[in-house]
Amino acid sequence: MEPVARKVVYRLYPSHSQETALLDMLGLHQRLYNAALEQRKTAWRLQHKSLSAYDQMRDLTDLRADDERYAALNAQSAQVTLHRLHLAFAAFFRRCKKGETPGFPRFRSFDRYSGWGYKHHGDGFRFVPGNGNRHGTLRLSGIGTIPVRGRARTPGEVKTCEIAHKAGRWYASLTITCEPQRGSGTDAIGLDWGIETFATLAHEDGTYSSVENPRFFGGMKATLESAQQNLARKAKRSKNRAKARKRVAAIQRKTANCRHDFLHQKSAKVVASVDLIATELLSIKNMTRAAKGTIESPGRNVAQKAGLNREILATAPRAFLAMLEYKAAEAGVEFVEVPSRKVKPSQTCSGCGKQRKKALSERQHACACGLVLSRDQNAARVNLLWALARTGREPTGCLAQSA
Ligand SMILES: [Zn+2]
Repeated sequence: MEPVARKVVYRLYPSHSQETALLDMLGLHQRLYNAALEQRKTAWRLQHKSLSAYDQMRDLTDLRADDERYAALNAQSAQVTLHRLHLAFAAFFRRCKKGETPGFPRFRSFDRYSGWGYKHHGDGFRFVPGNGNRHGTLRLSGIGTIPVRGRARTPGEVKTCEIAHKAGRWYASLTITCEPQRGSGTDAIGLDWGIETFATLAHEDGTYSSVENPRFFGGMKATLESAQQNLARKAKRSKNRAKARKRVAAIQRKTANCRHDFLHQKSAKVVASVDLIATELLSIKNMTRAAKGTIESPGRNVAQKAGLNREILATAPRAFLAMLEYKAAEAGVEFVEVPSRKVKPSQTCSGCGKQRKKALSERQHACACGLVLSRDQNAARVNLLWALARTGREPTGCLAQSA
């Protein structure tokens, strides 16, 4: 099996003095970024010259010779910062070319500066995993050895590292290449994404199953709501308000973690039983439009779909789909993307192939050919049949009889 690259995020637990050193380093990278941006702006204003990342890397060498603070900075990580600026400009020019009017890359304040990166393990950073591949330590040059918490599911070779500072916490995102170790099965499935049911699965044997929406777990919803009400009652800019806000954030984080775990478990289970997954690609626009549609044409559970839930509905399927895709790659499961614009899974009958436009409120698929399924089941089945036909695989069981 091909090695795959995977990102694993660890949380850093620096000592007091390490934290100070981390903040200093963040400040150096922020100043480097802004100085390089200034240089690009000036070069453009004075000479109408566009500086390249290469030009700036050369200047960086001079800067390091002149300034001992920069000399102490890991050279590769300074290059990564210049490269980030280069990417910001590349995106800017790309959008200009497309006729858009993007904002010119901006100076970043310290508060909004997120972190820095390293290119090679052993050059500026060294990660040592703990027992059983859980937690471990991260050594950063100029800072020291920091305990970290997190877990890589499969051990592998550490490649790159990105340090991020978010809401007062420090994280390291490591890229690890590993040999995939994941089993698969023999079923083939088609997937459809919905609002009412998060994911509907059509199986090769003609049966259907579904993955429920990962909304809230246990008493989390009530806990969050009471924390939010508590926050709303606090006076603006008061100490208690800050405290209440922290509490809301902590509950939201915990809920998000639960949801993430849930999606991991479900996607692992799906991949373990199949050797082919057929799904249409999701666009955020589609999902939000669909969510809005259900609110506008009210039915059951409408209140549940408003507000926070709407956001979850829009993001969870993406996360789930991404997990399915990389887990499929790890297990050697075929992952087929169905071109939904061409195939039109929700408008096509999976029995006879006839197409008819359905309103979003139409939850049943009832075709003149006699096929009656739920809208989602039919769409999942269309995806499955399309993928099977494309891969030259014969449908089996009930699927074959009615196809
Ligand atoms: Zn039909």
